[in-house]
Amino acid sequence: MTFRNLNLNTPLFNALDDLGFEKPTPIQEQAFNVVASGRDVVGIAQTGTGKTFAYMLPILKNLKFSKQENPRVLVLVPTRELVVQVVEEIEKLSKYINNRVLGVYGGTNINTQKQAVAEGLDILVATPGRLYDLALSRVLQLKSIQKLVIDEVDVMLDLGFRHQLINIFDLLPERRQNIMFSATMTQEVDTLINDFFRNPIRVSIAVSGTPLDNISQHRYNVPNFHTKVNLLEHLLGDTEAFNRVLIFVAFKRMADRLFDKLDAIFRDDVCVIHSNKTQNYRLRSIEAFSAGEHRILIATDVMARGLDIDNVSHVINFDTPDYPENYMHRIGRTGRAERKGESLVFSTEKEQDAIERIEGLMDMKVPLLELPDSVEISTELIEEERPQIKERHNPLKRRQDEDAPGQAFHEKKEKNKKVNQGGSYRRDMAKKYKKPKTRGDKNYNKRSRRK
Ligand code: AMP
Repeated sequence: MTFRNLNLNTPLFNALDDLGFEKPTPIQEQAFNVVASGRDVVGIAQTGTGKTFAYMLPILKNLKFSKQENPRVLVLVPTRELVVQVVEEIEKLSKYINNRVLGVYGGTNINTQKQAVAEGLDILVATPGRLYDLALSRVLQLKSIQKLVIDEVDVMLDLGFRHQLINIFDLLPERRQNIMFSATMTQEVDTLINDFFRNPIRVSIAVSGTPLDNISQHRYNVPNFHTKVNLLEHLLGDTEAFNRVLIFVAFKRMADRLFDKLDAIFRDDVCVIHSNKTQNYRLRSIEAFSAGEHRILIATDVMARGLDIDNVSHVINFDTPDYPENYMHRIGRTGRAERKGESLVFSTEKEQDAIERIEGLMDMKVPLLELPDSVEISTELIEEERPQIKERHNPLKRRQDEDAPGQAFHEKKEKNKKVNQGGSYRRDMAKKYKKPKTRGDKNYNKRSRRK
C-alpha cells in the first residue's frame, strides 16, 4: 500500500513526495475513504500515528479553491502547542495548494488575530476559548463551516472544555461533517459522541491485545476503595520490589482522593498528575518521578498518555479500565526495553465485567491472587460506592427508610413542627371576617357561609 492507492490529487502527491512520505500509516489508510465520504467519523489514534494527515488529506483533497472570506474547515484542539503543530502539518501538505490557513489561541493579542481573520481564510485551527471569543466579536463568521474536526477530544474534555464545545456547536451550521479524534476512549468522549454525532463511523488502529511476554500480570478482587488503599499500603511497604510505581485511576477526583490517602502514609514519596494540576506542577511531578525522587506516581489515563518513563517496576490499575484498550496502554508503561515489569489490577464486584473484557481482548486469563491476611477489609464506603436508588416511588426504599431511620434521624420537637405560613395578621383577619385570601377562595367562602 502506497499513497498512490489513495484517491489523492497531484498537488497532494507532490507535497507528500517532497516530504519523502511513501506509505500511509494504518490510521491514514483506514480513515481516508471514511472521512472523504462526508459521514461523521470518530477516530481513535494516538499522537505519532499520523492522525493529523489522516483527517487532513481527505479534507484538503475535497476543498475547492474559493475566494470567500469565511472559513470552511474548523479544527479545534486543546492547546496552543497543538494549534501550532497542526497548522505546520497543514502547511506541509498545502505546499502546492492555494489555501489560507490560520491558527488562533488564547493568551495572545486578540486584535492581531481579528485582523488576520478579517483578511479571509479557508481553514481555521483554534483552541475553543479563543475561537468562541472571536465568534462573539462577530469578526469571525462560522456560518460557512462545512467540516468540524475536534482533535484530542479526550484531553479537551478532561480539561473541562465540554461546555465551550457545546456553545461552539450552537454557532455552527447544522449541516456539517463532524470528525473527531481521540487517543483514549473515555465515558465523557462516548457521551459527547452520542449526544452530538450522527451515526458516526469509527476507525481505529486495533490495539494489540497481545501483552509483552516480559510483563507479568496479576489481579486482586477487592471489595471497595478503602480496602484497595489498605492493599496498596501493604504492597508499597515493600520499597525494594515496588521501587518505581505508576498507579492508574480513571478520574481526577479519584486521583486526588488516592493521593491524599497515600501521601498521609508515604510522605514525600508520592506525586500525582491530572488535568486540574497546572502544567508546571505536572512537569515537576513527572521529573521527580523519573529522577527517582518520588517512588509513586498517580495518574489518569488521559494525562499519562504522553509519559515517557523508563524502569517502571509496577503498573497498578487501582481501578479496572472500562475500555480494555486502556488496560493495554496502561500495562505497556512497564516492561519497556525488554526489562521485566509487573502489572496488578484491582477489581471490585462491579468491575468484574471489565476484567472479563480485558481477558477477552488478550485471550488469556489474568491469574488471581488472594488478598494477603494482613490487609484489613474495610466496610466503609465512599460516596460513589453507596447504593443509589433513583426511582421516586420505590416501595423497597421506603420500607428500608422506615425500618432504619439512620443516625441523624429524630422526631422534630413540637415547636419545630409548625410550618411557617407567613402573613399571620392577614390570615387571622381573613379567618375572622371570612374574607377571601385570593380570588379563588371566594367561592369556597361563599359555600362555607351558606352552610
Ligand atoms: P501525528 O500523529 O499527526 O502527530 O503525526 C506524527 C508525525 O508523523 C508528524 O511529524 C508527521 O509529519 C509524520 N507523518 C505523518 N504521516 C506520515 C507518513 N505517512 N509517513 C511518515 N511520516 C508521517
